[in-house]
Amino acid sequence: MQFIIKPMEERDLYTEKDEVVPANIYCPKCRETLEYPIKWRRRTKKAAIPGGANEQDRARFAKARSYRIRLDDKLRCKNPRCGKTIEISTLQTVVFD
Ligand SMILES: [Zn+2]
Repeated sequence: MQFIIKPMEERDLYTEKDEVVPANIYCPKCRETLEYPIKWRRRTKKAAIPGGANEQDRARFAKARSYRIRLDDKLRCKNPRCGKTIEISTLQTVVFD
């Protein structure tokens, strides 16, 4: 039997957690800025690289930074007189923080 070294995946380098961050979003239809809960997936870099990492994985891990990805890209306007779909374009899709 041959031992195959499987390349590390994102989830080997990061701890994944979904979270909700409130953000002020402007609706171009009714021109109201209201606060909306925005879903993000946070990937926090692990404190140490898991065992079995090769040279390439170590280099990747060294360069890796924690980040979050925005999961929501559309939402419904909260204004009861509007209710239109808003495309979120004012927030970045990936944030390093
Ligand atoms: Zn609106």
